[in-house]
Amino acid sequence: MAELVQPDPDEADLAALVAGGHAWEVESVLAALGSDGLLGLSEPQSALRLRRFGPNELSGRREPPLWWRFLGQFNDPLLYALLITGAIKALIHSLTEALVIWSVTLINALIGFVQESKAETAIAALARSVRTDSAVIREGQQRLIPSQDLVVGDLVRLEAGARIPADLRLVAARNLQVDESALTGESIPVEKGVAPVAQAVAVAERSDMAYAGSFVTAGVGCGVVVASGNDTEVGQISGLLRKPSVLTTPLTRTIRRFSRTLLQLILVLAGITFAVGLIRGRGAVEMFDGAVALAVGAIPEELPAIVTITLAIGVGRMARRNAIIRKLPAVEALGSTTVICSDKTGTLTQNRMTVREIYAGGSLVALEDLWPSRSGGPDPLLDNRALQETLLTGLLCNDARLDPEGDLVGDPTEAALLVAAELAGIDRDHALGHHPRQDAIPFASEHQYMATLHGSRRILVKGSLEAVLPRCRRQLDRTGVAIPLDGAAVEVAVTAMAGRGLRVLAFAMGTATADETSLDHHHVAGGLDFLGLQGMLDPPRPEAQRAVAACHQAGITVKMITGDHLDTALAIARQIGLSGKGDAVVGVEGKDLAAMTPEALAACADRTDVFARVAPTQKLELVRALQAHGAVVAMTGDGVNDAPALRQADIGIAMGRGGTEVARQAADMLLTDDDFASIEAAVEEGRGVYLNLRKTLAFVLPVNGGASITILLAAVLGLELPVTALQVLWLNMVSSLTMSVPLAFEPKPTGLMVQPPRPPSQPLLTPRLIRRVLLVSLFNWGLVFSVFFGGKAIGADLDLARTMAVQALVLSQVVYLVSISQVGRGLCRLGAGGWQAIRQAPALLLGVSVGLLLQYLFSQAPWMNTFFGTAPLGLREWLISALPMLAMLPVSLLAQRLDPTSAASRS
Ligand code: ADP
Ligand code: MG
Repeated sequence: MAELVQPDPDEADLAALVAGGHAWEVESVLAALGSDGLLGLSEPQSALRLRRFGPNELSGRREPPLWWRFLGQFNDPLLYALLITGAIKALIHSLTEALVIWSVTLINALIGFVQESKAETAIAALARSVRTDSAVIREGQQRLIPSQDLVVGDLVRLEAGARIPADLRLVAARNLQVDESALTGESIPVEKGVAPVAQAVAVAERSDMAYAGSFVTAGVGCGVVVASGNDTEVGQISGLLRKPSVLTTPLTRTIRRFSRTLLQLILVLAGITFAVGLIRGRGAVEMFDGAVALAVGAIPEELPAIVTITLAIGVGRMARRNAIIRKLPAVEALGSTTVICSDKTGTLTQNRMTVREIYAGGSLVALEDLWPSRSGGPDPLLDNRALQETLLTGLLCNDARLDPEGDLVGDPTEAALLVAAELAGIDRDHALGHHPRQDAIPFASEHQYMATLHGSRRILVKGSLEAVLPRCRRQLDRTGVAIPLDGAAVEVAVTAMAGRGLRVLAFAMGTATADETSLDHHHVAGGLDFLGLQGMLDPPRPEAQRAVAACHQAGITVKMITGDHLDTALAIARQIGLSGKGDAVVGVEGKDLAAMTPEALAACADRTDVFARVAPTQKLELVRALQAHGAVVAMTGDGVNDAPALRQADIGIAMGRGGTEVARQAADMLLTDDDFASIEAAVEEGRGVYLNLRKTLAFVLPVNGGASITILLAAVLGLELPVTALQVLWLNMVSSLTMSVPLAFEPKPTGLMVQPPRPPSQPLLTPRLIRRVLLVSLFNWGLVFSVFFGGKAIGADLDLARTMAVQALVLSQVVYLVSISQVGRGLCRLGAGGWQAIRQAPALLLGVSVGLLLQYLFSQAPWMNTFFGTAPLGLREWLISALPMLAMLPVSLLAQRLDPTSAASRS
């Protein structure tokens, strides 16, 4: 090994490199960095540098300060309106009331701020928990290290799908194309090479550099790190970009729009209330109070915070079931998924391949029969040259290897071929010694083959039958003689093997024309000798079968999309019961899809279960076709070219283990275990979240409704206000909020996955939900009116009667809350076991206790009396206020009848 202790680069050199490294020759760059173009850095040296330069990550230096983000909570027309109201109050009327309005707004903002920051940090932490690795060369060995550990001078290997982890000066490149749109905005990938460019060119034209944050779309290459972390180009600009909030979703936007429309409506109504009151001869100040109370009462100020909290809790629950949400809207979409399009290999199957059958020289043998240890019987390997060559090609045309710990690393398909050859007694090191590799074309799903060039002009090819067979003219027979190709016989063998669920690879050999040292697609365009086939088994995941059945029960269609052979895919699909209709699995091949008109494609996409030999670009068309029929589509993907389909899908799903960075960046959700069952779990959680949202609406809106009817009527009839503006504010922003947050923590009911998916067009406020809200609003209105006037009738003064009305409303809300929550169902069903149900809902218990405690203070604490104009209740008043709880019971049950969907499941 060469001398690896080179001097560390000094600051001046580094600065010069970052500014103009693209104009230097490769050798001078390497020399300045103290690195070696073949061996890279040594481990001790890179450890030293890691300490000196710090980890390779962007530290969010220019995050907006906390107070600024807190102020953001007030950036809402509703809150402006409240703050201004407070100011008017302070001017014309009373400073105390103004202070109350302001502090309630403050409390609300505080709750919102704390919850949202918690959600944001949790989501960011989840995103970070998915580690990305880079392939570096250190001490001459390639290893995978976390990208954060890269240092200046490291040699990084690049291949299609990789994200460029730091700013690199390229030292080698072959057909290398990089998508730099994140940096330059240019969406077409650019060609990269190693030749230096002029000092003055812009970043976009530095073809010998690869910048952090961009992606390799094709080819292979190697580059040396010239800048890491915040020193990279993207690090320099990212501080300037304001990160968009991760917490906005279509739902929160709808709700904001909804409350703004409501605000306009309310302002008009409030104006009318004010005018009517004046005409009826009441004081302007009092009527202003009424108008404000109406405005405050009708608007659900707390809703956006509640929605965000509920969604964020869903994110946490999904993470616990191995689905990491990258974009919050996915939580909503998951609940209404109607079609899941899944990869076969690795998602529905285990991706643990083992070669079972080999076809060569006209005969089919089982792998077990090749084991050298097997005594007795003739060795089928001995008299079959084609078989030997097939195994040897599987070994040589292969990028998988054993790492020092003895684990297989690389593509599982290739690992299986390696194992097969070694089981048959072929030694890898020995074989590579005889046939040193000179060049390779890596496998890609687009061309479905891989080829290698070895010493003595030998070219080896492996790939799908469709890719390999047309390139062959002859075939090798058992004695090693090339005879004319019998394509039909090979096809028959493939069909039989694929029918048994085996993944089949074809092998071929050729000769390079001249003494070439590099390999290109045209070298393997034709004239090859066919060697044989290897069929490998990739058993379905046991959990997948259960999850597919669960999806069917939940009215969700599952479709398989694969690059594999149709018969193989069909066999696997049958094993996991994909179609849900017994054995009648419908399959189609990519080439047939390509010939269809868009209408035919849409119809076909609808009724087909298995799409085989699909090119990555066709996935996008499939998503579109399914969406054209109104489907909400979840789609998995792992390759470079899957990104457009992942973006188009309602829920793009990438793999956390396998899969490329490109796919992960495009995805809405990552599976940490690459397992189909986790998609099903996420859908279930998504449905649970949606249900909890509806419960929250069902709980919160009637309070607003009841308050607004009360105030409107009081104004129109010229009566005294049964509740004041301040009290309504308290009800909305403190009482409702504390009691409704527990609904977001409700465990999901059983039976969520036996209902059909929610139609995507269904609004959040369904007619049923609206009916429920109206019913309970009317009840609340009646309650407030009767308690208020009842109180006055028994001699309570104005303040006391109002306080009783508010307390009565909150107490009956507790009954209603329990009826909506799961505890309510538990109570109904279990009778005496109800206590059990209550203990299983600690959040509800806590919410109600805190709510009641606050409510007690609200009337009994003298300072609260001053602020809210309340009066302490005696036993008699408490009893009267508690009476409506009894009436609430039948109303809750009726509401449940009207709108069963907003409470628990229909199971
Ligand atoms: P999928 O991941 O959906 O199974 P792929 O695109 O990976 O589909 O594979 C498609 C076909 O390409 C396979 O059926 C196989 O014949 C061939 N193939 C897969 N992996 C390799 C590889 N590493 N080298 C050569 N051919 C391969
Ligand atoms: Mg694959």
